[in-house]
Formats: sequence, structure tokens, C-alpha cells
Amino acid sequence: MSLMVNSSQEIRSPWQEVDKIQWPILMNDITCDVAIVGGGISGIATLYYLMTETDKHVVLVEKKTIASGATGNNAGFAWPHIERSVSELVEEFGFDLVKEAFLELDQGWDEYVKINKLLGLENNVKLLGNAGFAFTDRATLQQALAEGAIFRKMGRNKWEFFVSEEIEVVGEGIHHVPREVILEKLQTIDPSYIALLHDTVNRARTNTYLFCGRLLEYLKHHFPDRFEVYEQTEITHMDKNILHHSLGTIIAEDIVLCTNGYSSKVTPRAAYVAACTTSLPEDYSAAFITLADPSVPYWHVTNCNSLTVMAGPDYERPVLDRNEWNRSFFELSQFFQKTYGLNPSFKYQWFGIQGYTKNGLRWVGQDSENSHLWYNLGCNGIGIVHAIAGGKRIARLLNGELLGPSLFSAFRS
Ligand SMILES: Cc1cc2nc3c(=O)[nH]c(=O)nc-3n(C[C@H](O)[C@H](O)[C@H](O)COP(=O)(O)OP(=O)(O)OC[C@H]3O[C@@H](n4cnc5c(N)ncnc54)[C@H](O)[C@@H]3O)c2cc1C
Repeated sequence: MSLMVNSSQEIRSPWQEVDKIQWPILMNDITCDVAIVGGGISGIATLYYLMTETDKHVVLVEKKTIASGATGNNAGFAWPHIERSVSELVEEFGFDLVKEAFLELDQGWDEYVKINKLLGLENNVKLLGNAGFAFTDRATLQQALAEGAIFRKMGRNKWEFFVSEEIEVVGEGIHHVPREVILEKLQTIDPSYIALLHDTVNRARTNTYLFCGRLLEYLKHHFPDRFEVYEQTEITHMDKNILHHSLGTIIAEDIVLCTNGYSSKVTPRAAYVAACTTSLPEDYSAAFITLADPSVPYWHVTNCNSLTVMAGPDYERPVLDRNEWNRSFFELSQFFQKTYGLNPSFKYQWFGIQGYTKNGLRWVGQDSENSHLWYNLGCNGIGIVHAIAGGKRIARLLNGELLGPSLFSAFRS
């Protein structure tokens, strides 16, 4: 079967099908305590904490419209995780700093849940837990077992492995079961899966576009005189503490870049997502990643509110390439058929840009040369919870708090 997209087909993410208020264009010079560049979840979370935890006057500028970047085009899977091998991280940065980083992300998760409640968006954090991570090869399973052992040592989350009876592996949290049990949990007809990791940590489907729009409305109501937001206002360049846009300047004591990219320090990756309606269980969530063979694309499937969202793969380029786009969705539909025996009719197909730092870790902290300049960006494959945790940390730092080193800030040049 083939699924091709013609050049006139619209890129549409379901998240953006909600109303939100419009903000003016900045037409003049302006001064403020803090200027935030970028109106995605990182910028808006930073604004929220600057409003609730400081008395700063803040200006936020967005070159397009609020949450129209990765925030309005992601796969909607909130998860306090880091998209790197935890054993590598421990080797590179030490156990304590890595443990601390995961604790910070757990707090970011709690904060995300709390703010959604505050906004009356309880249903915007739909917990997922049914399946987990699926393995077809021993190498990836072995690697995951090693990672699981580190998480256990951190006392954070307990990874439970359901492993097919004929596979001989040892380690903590392993349950040997008939292969059918694994296939049943995965709801798959594909017999090639040998193991399943059930991660007890929090995971949820969420709409970050909706979250950002509502959060700005809330802030407008509660802090009407302390912040301004401008859309369609692109920052073209920066001198120390002065931001230039096409119609003037913003002079700020501090500047926070929440731009999901920053010159050569962040590499953009185009990532593809599609959604359809299916008969998968409501709280279903499964990731299919073959670390042993990087040429096999990863797939991530979640089902919530009758909408199944499938994410993957991604490519190192910042613009949509039609051939790549066609190939991605063709592969995705093939994967879907093979896995679930279903012929997906995609209701939505879209892509977004993820900004990766060189070491794959989010960048939350101060520039080493310009003391006015701060960052809350990068590492955007899994970035929803990171954006919230980063916003809180930046607000605390800008409020003069002395915080210890963080995995997300300590090792930048
Ligand atoms: C396809 C895809 C799937 C993803 N899936 C998940 C997922 O399932 N779970 C998860 O946790 N994360 C996921 N992510 C990552 C997550 O969406 C991002 O980490 C998060 O949205 C990043 O928010 P942000 O505010 O940093 O970036 P953005 O939302 O991209 O916002 C940055 C903003 O800065 C603006 N900007 C840039 N330059 C300028 C300038 N010069 N002047 C003014 N404004 C500027 C941009 O227009 C943009 O609106 C995914 C991302 C993509 C693309």
C-alpha cells in the first residue's frame, strides 16, 4: 500500500485546532527588566515563573505566532526523561549530577500537572501506561537492562522487563513470560518482539499549544501590568543587552533565548508525526526503538481520546523535504500495518523542528561571555517537561538565587 502526499497537501497538527488570543506586533522601542525571545512552551513557562516568583517587568517576543513552533507541532507525549543513555551520562557527568537532573525533571512534571490544574485543564494530562518500550533485539534489551539498573540505584523509577521465556538474560526487574503475553500487552500481531519494558514513571498525552494559549490568558488576567507579549516580531540581532527588531529595539537588563535554536550551537532536526483514529486501547503507549541498528527508524505510538499519534523518524535538516515527507509517512503506514494489522487512514500529518545541542542536553543557564544573556533551549526530542523545569530555574536565577550546578548548565563553553 502507498501513502503519498501531494505538494498542495496541508501540514496540520490536531493540537492547533483550538482558539487562542492574538497579540500585537511590536512597533516601537521598549525597555524592560527581562526580554524573552520565543513564544513556545519554553518562553511561556519562563514568563510564568518570572510572573509568579519575581517582580520583574517582562516582554516576550515571538517571530510568528504563539506556540506555532515545536510546541504546536509535537507528538504530545510528556515524560520526565532525557533523550540520552543514562549510563553514558553517569560516566560523563557523575552519578549525583545525573540523579539531580532527573529529580529536577520530576519536579517539572509535577509543575506541569499543577499548572494544568490551575488552568482548569485537568484533562490535558492524560496518563498513559498500558504498554511501554518494545524490543526486537537482544543488544537493545541488554542496554535497557543496564539503564534500568542505574535508575533503580537512583531510587527513581523501577523498570520492569517482560522477557520472552526463550531469551536468557539476567538482571533486576525481569519477568520471564510466554511471548504471547508480550505481544498481547503490545496489542501487536508482529511476532518479532522479544521483550517489553514497562516504565512506571509518569507519562501522559498532552496538548502544549492549548496549554500555552490558556497560560497566557491566565497571566494576562493576573498580572496585566507586568508583562507584554508581541507576535510577528522577529529579533534580527542582539548587542549585549539590546535586541533589534525591524521596527525598533528592546533594551533589557536580561535576555532569555527560548528560540528552540541558537546559531551553530543547536542543530535543527525535522521530525514527522501522523495521527489517525484506531481501535487501540485508550491509554496505550508504546515505543519501538532499535538502538542496535540506527538505520531502522524509531516509532512512538500513543492513543488517547480516540486519536492515535505516531511519531518518528527525524532527519538532520531544518526544512520540509517532500520526498522525505512522503517516505516517512509511507514507512509509518507500513509499520502500522505490520504491527497492528490495521490500515491507517491518517487524519493529520505534520512535522516540526527539534533543536538539538551538541551534547544532546538541554541548555538552561547563562552565556559564558555575555552576562545579560540566558538560555532555556535545546534538546527538543523530549522537551515538554524540560521546558517547564528550565523556565523555573531561569526565573530563580534571575531573581538572584544561587543554585548549584545542573546537568543542563554546568558544562557549556
Ligand atoms: C515533531 C516533534 C515531536 C515532538 N514530540 C515530543 C514529545 O512527544 N514529547 C516531548 O516532551 N517533546 C516533544 N517534542 C519536543 C517539544 O515539542 C519541544 O521540546 C518544545 O515544544 C520546545 O519548545 P520551545 O518553546 O523551546 O520551542 P518552540 O515551540 O519551537 O518555540 C520557539 C519559538 O521561538 C520563536 N523564535 C525563533 N527565533 C526567533 C527570533 N529570532 N525572534 C523571535 N522569535 C523567535 C519561534 O518562532 C518559535 O515559536 C517534539 C518536537 C517535535 C518537533
